[in-house]
Amino acid sequence: MAADVYAMEAMTQVTASLIDRGFEDYMIETAMLKVFTTERLWDAVNDCFQIHGGSAYFDDSPLGRMLRDARINQIGEGSNEVLTSFIALVGMRGPGMEFKEILDTVMKPWRAERNKAFGAGLKRLSAAVKVPEVPVRHEQLRSYASQLGRLVWRFNFAVNKALITYREPVMDMQLIQERIAVAAMELFATTCVLSRWDSELTKSGRNGHSVTTEQVAADLFVRRSIRKIKEALRDLGDNDDRALLATANAVLGQRASISRNGS
Ligand SMILES: Cc1cc2nc3c(=O)[nH]c(=O)nc-3n(C[C@H](O)[C@H](O)[C@H](O)COP(=O)(O)OP(=O)(O)OC[C@H]3O[C@@H](n4cnc5c(N)ncnc54)[C@H](O)[C@@H]3O)c2cc1C
Repeated sequence: MAADVYAMEAMTQVTASLIDRGFEDYMIETAMLKVFTTERLWDAVNDCFQIHGGSAYFDDSPLGRMLRDARINQIGEGSNEVLTSFIALVGMRGPGMEFKEILDTVMKPWRAERNKAFGAGLKRLSAAVKVPEVPVRHEQLRSYASQLGRLVWRFNFAVNKALITYREPVMDMQLIQERIAVAAMELFATTCVLSRWDSELTKSGRNGHSVTTEQVAADLFVRRSIRKIKEALRDLGDNDDRALLATANAVLGQRASISRNGS
């Protein structure tokens, strides 16, 4: 819980700072913040309820109300399922348009169009080759920063691969979208945690303070988040989607209605 709360605060600070600094486009960050924090709040309250055992169930405990209050956040203000698709689709719009531009123009005989496609191709290629540098001031965070840079590269590769493999139908593939959104949210969360942690380490070094409980929690968060990013990216190519969709179709009777309609 402490690790998640550290990340939730760090993400809120960074997102609020985007707004305060006058950025005009922060819709993906606010959507990621909403989904991430409401899911983790639910986990925390649910775990807390479990820790308190049977006594949590009775009306004189505030935990019942907390549980109910936390639950609505996953539904209201844009349900988390809808926002998860939104995060993936809005995030993939840029690279998707670039691929489309390359595809549309590469066939055209006009020189200007071909140059445009070549430019877009080069941009994609340089993103595919270069591992981005994640700047941190404190020596202790260098290893995490370079792991994060490599994961951003892997994420970029995975998104490109999904766009090339599935093309337009990816707009309807919510299982794929969810994994991309989960990886994006964890990347954002880890970035915010490293930023906050870096600032705290730099300040505490100046004041001669030692490691705080919060910094231990930050370390745990980054470790677990890196694991989750790898898992989400791995699951893009290794999953049970076919069986899951077959089960859903069987239970919902889609197969029966398809055969009845003869299509
Ligand atoms: C206490 C409370 C206060 C509220 N206050 C306000 C308010 O002040 N202002 C306001 O405008 N609204 C308010 N609402 C409404 C709230 O915004 C809606 O409940 C919420 O947007 C979800 O819509 P819905 O209930 O129609 O569920 P539905 O849209 O029917 O969704 C049902 C389920 O299906 C999922 N789902 C829906 N579409 C998709 C999709 N395309 N892909 C995957 N999953 C999907 C949803 O995630 C959800 O789990 C409030 C609701 C409650 C309970």
